[in-house]
Order: sequence, then structure tokens, then C-alpha cells
Amino acid sequence: MEKVMAVNAGSSSLKFKLYDMPEEKIICSGIFERIGHDDGIFQINHNDKKFKEILPLKDHHICVDLLSKKLIEMGIVQSLEEIKVIGHRIVQGGKYFNKSVVSTPENEKIVESLIPLAPLHNKAHLIGIKAFESLLPHTLETLTFDTAFHQTMEPQDYTFPIPYHLTETYDIRRYGAHGTSHQYVSEVAIKKYLNNKPNSKIISCHLGSGSSITAILNGKCVATSMGLTPLGGIMMGTRTGDLDPSVMNYICGQTKLSVEEVYQIFNKQSGFLGVSGISNDTRDVENAYFKGDKRAKLAIELFARRAADFIGQYFVRLGGCDLLIFTAGIGENAALYRKAILDNIKEALNIKYDEIINNEIIKGKEGIISTASSKVMVVVIPTDEEVVIARDAYNLYKNQ
Ligand code: ADP
Repeated sequence: MEKVMAVNAGSSSLKFKLYDMPEEKIICSGIFERIGHDDGIFQINHNDKKFKEILPLKDHHICVDLLSKKLIEMGIVQSLEEIKVIGHRIVQGGKYFNKSVVSTPENEKIVESLIPLAPLHNKAHLIGIKAFESLLPHTLETLTFDTAFHQTMEPQDYTFPIPYHLTETYDIRRYGAHGTSHQYVSEVAIKKYLNNKPNSKIISCHLGSGSSITAILNGKCVATSMGLTPLGGIMMGTRTGDLDPSVMNYICGQTKLSVEEVYQIFNKQSGFLGVSGISNDTRDVENAYFKGDKRAKLAIELFARRAADFIGQYFVRLGGCDLLIFTAGIGENAALYRKAILDNIKEALNIKYDEIINNEIIKGKEGIISTASSKVMVVVIPTDEEVVIARDAYNLYKNQ
């Protein structure tokens, strides 16, 4: 048994999960939140012990230092040397990575060069990597990319119809996101629900605060809804998803806001928040909808219809669909939103689902919500990106 840590460093948070591998047994998990604030939050769960403290968290280095001390203090490890490898989640790997890799100065440079494509994420990931490097300079670190799973798309699926010299010079194309999640849930589905059927056709809906839908043929991504950045695709918590590009130009002209200001609006004030005017959190929008709020209703219907558009598109792209997956915050927990999407596609795709079971499969439960006579099986599968990061990290450690 070897200890492997999966890390997801964000700009103001750092999540971690320590595993015993290859058993995939979780030893402990936790999070630092509000990094950079005097009232930062440090939480760690180990067996039935829960530790939580509010304290100043100046930067990621402080967090990693605190974590290492706590791991020893709680008796989780005797020495930090027991952690053989640290796997980092990286949002943007561009065209450079189609699988997880060892973190080397060269690979870190590439991640840095991709900051313009994921400014908040890649910058924070590098800070996380450096923080662990300075504490554990001899421990192997690996990088697992949200974009890697989508590297199997064909040019017709990832190229934008702009002048080709721009595509080539600036590597402008669809990269997608949530690849680790789509990979994980589709692997579970192929094994558990499709009995390793060859040429399986899966549409995976990762619906969280960010959402993406992916078409997966025989275990490989052929199309995905997010674009150059996680702004594209279906409507999300605060993001627009796909738009007629002239909306940008028109708003700038009418309001005198700058391109950057409108871009921020598209990223941070649109989606559920923008349409409902209530919240980016679909729970709040759902509550308002049940109280009769018209814009909350529109937001839910809009979200469902945009998701249905992509599912329809991918049904055609795949030449059919054996199985539709719902995962992530909304996909795993929100029966109302699943129903709204299914009601938009059920006639065309010949889907039949059980409303009672749909209402029951929430909060981390896994299961089939379609009925036996449904042409497409519909399954809720809780995602687990960390275990993929830990598996890849462990394999790279074993094969070095
Ligand atoms: P992230 O993309 O930040 O990892 P998650 O996949 O955890 O997010 O999804 C978080 C979102 O899921 C919340 O913002 C909320 O909109 C939605 N969500 C979580 N639980 C529920 C629920 N019970 N009902 C409706 N929406 C939910």
C-alpha cells in the first residue's frame, strides 16, 4: 500500500484527498477555503474525526505547511515521506497533454504558458504545485488535465470557423473541460451498465456550477460542449454558455462597457444568476420557481432546453445513444432539473423514466432512472475526479 495525495488548488481554495493505493481507500480529505483572508477555513476529515479551524491563511504555502503538521498531529502519517506522490488537477492542458504526466520544469512551463486560456485556474494550480514542491522537494508530483480526455476529438469537432491563420497561430480551438469527470463516469457506465459493450455510445452530462456535455464513442470523447475556455457550451451558474458572438459587440456599442467588462459579465453575472436575477445556485432558483417566480421558471426552462440541444446534437454525432449520464452537483442532486431536461428529449430519443426513482436518486446515490422499455438507459453516477488523479499519480509513480 502506498499513500497518494490528490490535490485541487484553486485561487482561494485548496482541496486534498489522501488515498491508500492501489486499494483506493480514502485516508483523509479536506479543504482550505478563503486563502488570502484573515478568516480562512481549514477542514480535515479522518475516519470519524472532523477538524475545523478558522484562521488567517495568507497563501497556499501556509496551507501546505499547516496540512503537513496536521497530518502528523492527527497520526495520519508518521512522516511526510510516506506520501509517495502528489497528483495535481490542472484545468487547461491545451493541445500539449492527452494524458497525465510527471510534473517537470518543462511541463510546468507549458502549464504557465496556458494561463491566458484559464487565468484563474492554471495560475492557482502552479502556486499549489510550488507550495508542495517547497515542502516536499523529493516527492514526485504529477499533473492530471481536465482537457486531456477531450484530445481525441477530430478537427471537425474542435475547430472554430475563423480564419485558419488565427487558429494556427494562437491554437484557438475547442479544448473542453471536466474531462476527468466525463472519463470517470463513462468508465463506470461502460463497465457496470453496458457490460463492456464494444462501440458504446454515451452522452455524459456534468451539470454543476460549471456544466458540460460530452459525446463518448467506445470510451473516447468525440465532442464536448465547452469551448476554448469553460465559458462555452450550455448555460451555467454564472456563465452564458454559447452565444451569438455579436451579442458582445452589440452590448459594448450600446452600453459603452469595454470588451473585458462584458466578458466578465458573461463569465460572472450571466447564466442562472443573470436570467433569474436570484442566484447562481440552482437550489435558490428552484425555491423561487416553486414560489411562482417567472424568471426562475425561465432560467430552468432555458437551461433544460440548451442541455437538450446538445444532447440532440450528440445523439446525431454518435449515431444513437445507449446511455445518458447525469453527474456533478445538479446532475447528482437535482431531480427537477433532470426531469426538465428529460422532458425535452424523451419524445425524440424514446426515453422513458420513472419519476419516483428520479426523485429518490439524489445525494451521492447511484442508479438507473429510466425504465426497462426506455430506448436509452439514463443513469445517475456520482463523479469522482480525485480518484482518477490518484490512480494516474500512482501509475506514474509505479512506472518511473
Ligand atoms: P463545482 O462545479 O463547483 O464543482 P458542483 O458540481 O459541486 O460544483 O455543483 C455545485 C452546484 O450544484 C451548486 O451551485 C448548485 O447549483 C447545484 N446543486 C447542488 N445540490 C443541489 C440540489 N440539491 N438541488 C439543486 N441544485 C443543486
